Parts: sequence; C-alpha cells; structure tokens
Amino acid sequence: MHVTTHTSSTGLQSFDYHPRTRVIFGEDSLERVGELARDLGGKHALIVTDKGIAAAGHPTRAVGFIEAAGLHVTVFSEVRENPSTLDVERCVEVARAAGIDLIVGLGGGSSMDTAKGANFILTNGGHMKDYWGVGKATKPMLPLIAIPTTAGTGSECQSFALISDEQTHLKMACGDPKAAAKIAILDPLLTVSQPPRVTACTGIDTLVHAVETAVTKKRTPLSAIYSREAFKLCLGGLERVLRNPQDLEARGMMQLSAAFAGTAIENSMLGAAHSAANPLTARFGVVHGQAVGLMLPAVIAFNARDPLAHEHYMELSEAADLGPIEEFVAELEVLLDVARMREGLSQYGIDPKQFPSLAKEAAQQWTASFNPRPIAAEDFERLYEEVFG
Ligand SMILES: [Zn+2]
Repeated sequence: MHVTTHTSSTGLQSFDYHPRTRVIFGEDSLERVGELARDLGGKHALIVTDKGIAAAGHPTRAVGFIEAAGLHVTVFSEVRENPSTLDVERCVEVARAAGIDLIVGLGGGSSMDTAKGANFILTNGGHMKDYWGVGKATKPMLPLIAIPTTAGTGSECQSFALISDEQTHLKMACGDPKAAAKIAILDPLLTVSQPPRVTACTGIDTLVHAVETAVTKKRTPLSAIYSREAFKLCLGGLERVLRNPQDLEARGMMQLSAAFAGTAIENSMLGAAHSAANPLTARFGVVHGQAVGLMLPAVIAFNARDPLAHEHYMELSEAADLGPIEEFVAELEVLLDVARMREGLSQYGIDPKQFPSLAKEAAQQWTASFNPRPIAAEDFERLYEEVFG
C-alpha cells in the first residue's frame, strides 16, 4: 500500500494508486487455478486453508486442478479463526518441509492472512512482528493466489496480513506491496457453502468496510468510487443472501462488494467502528462482523457531527437512493436486524466497569487515527455505553 496524505486546495486528497492484484470473477473460475499457478511459474503449490473449508471440499477440487496443470501440491488445513503467530509458524514449517514456490490462500480472511503471513517469514525470515507496519519486507516474496470462500474481509485485494500475537492477542497489521496477491479468483459458487451465521457476519463486515472507508481521513477520489460501489452492491445483495443462501447472483454481488471494499481499505484504511470492535474480539471473543456491526450506528452518529464526514455519508446515501442521515442509519439498522447483529454488549458478559480499559485500547488502535473526527478514549467509553443495551 502507498498512502500519501497531501491535500490540495480543492480538498481532494492526492493519491498514488497501483493495482497489484489481477482480479478474475465468475462462476467456476476456480477451475482456472491450475493454469494460473503454472503461468506464475509455480512448480510446487501450498494451499493454505482451514478444516471447515476442507470439509466443504474446495481444497480437494483445487488440488485436482493444480495437479492437472503439472504442479505438485501440499495442503495446510490447520488455520484457526483470527490467526495468530502460532498459525503462521505451523504453516511455515509445512511449507519449508515441502519446498514450495507458490502459495494459494483458499478460505476466509483467516486463511488468506495466514498465507500472507507465512509468505513474509518464508521469504524474508524473522518473526511476524518484524513486519508490523508497512513496507518492512526487503526481499521478493512468493507469488500468492487468493481465493475467498466468504464475502467479507476483502483480504484478496489488500497487501495486509492481520495476525494476532499468540501471547498478547494484539492484532498486528503487517502490510507490504509485495504481500498482495498476484491473482484473486472470485468464484461465487465457493461462497454458497458458508454457514448462515458466517454469511451474516462477513456480510455485515463488508457493509462496515464500505461505510468506514467512505469517510476516513485517507479517503481519495478513487477509494470513494470503490466504497460507493461496494455499498450499493452490499445493499442490493446482503438481504438476498441472508433470505436465500442459494441466490447465486446475490452471492456474486456480495463477493464483488467485499473485493471492492477491500480495495477501498487498501487505499483509505478504516475508522472507529473497527477500533472499537478489536478489543471486544480480542478480550471477549465477539465475532469481528458482529462487533463492527454493533458499533457502526453509534460511530456514524458520532462522526456525522463533522460536516465533511456528514457530506461523505450523504454521498453513499445518494448513491443508494436513500435520504438524509436518519434514513441512511435506519436502512443500515434494518440490515443489522435482518442479520441479527443488534445484541448489546450486555449479552457478552461485558461489565460496564470494563469500558474504560476497553476504550483505552480502542483509542490506541491504528484505525482510530484515520477516523474523520478525532476520537479519544472518553469518546469510545460513551460509544460502548450507547451499545450496552
Ligand atoms: Zn472488518
């Protein structure tokens, strides 16, 4: 990722946009993985995935296509949710033993992040924390093909690996242009196997990505296009996939929404809903999509008091044929209700006495620095109070 912060006299943020990922979209596009891996020069591919995805049968099909193209394949299917430095170490061990030269991240954000994390260590050595930040890898990295089976994180279109420290649970965002996937394969058929709760949580995460990227301090005229399109696709597709999981067109819309929102994140970063959510996930195990969805309406109300942020929310609202800010938020709340994401913090055994320490952690998150309105620990405390319910 390359972020410039210069603002011109017109108020338009300058940018340096270099798409690094070839994006292939369409039903049955998984079938092309073998030919694409061969074109990238691979002789021995490592598929990084998790047990649930393995049970759904997608890696087995991918192995078949890659072997048919004349490559060897090794499968690592031990990825856990919110992957830690331990997941990366285990993956690196398997990759080293097999002598692989190409990586395929096949699964949700956790599989793709583990694949990226392992790529850092395999090619540049050291430990995950050495790459915390942006652009810390000095040597070339192995080609990566990202194949999402959820429509959520947009990791397939980002150069960041989100890896938690196994001991402290602190989430490290490790980004480098070289870590971005060379190719993303978006095959909507792969997302049909998601359990309903995963569809809901990842879909809401996509929605929050579209809304947060639209208003950050880093937003550019280009990231705004991706945010808007992601928002429109999500509004059109989310309710449909929740009501009818087999609706392939809506699955495709959600997959594109997630990839476009991921591209927006790559260029504009995220905001306070993500900052507030991370400590809830790290300390109380609240699922990421649930946590960001719960925080979003309160964060919008907080940010909309800033005239520029209000204007940017309204751009999204108009793009989706919605009205003033109240109508915009009400529409989001309808979606959160349909996805059953409105349980307050009290449901997770969180005591209000813990708000000050959670708020302190939220204010220290990297994403908080990109929020359009300056936001301090006291503000986060108030946001938590509002969603205690
Ligand atoms: Zn997210």
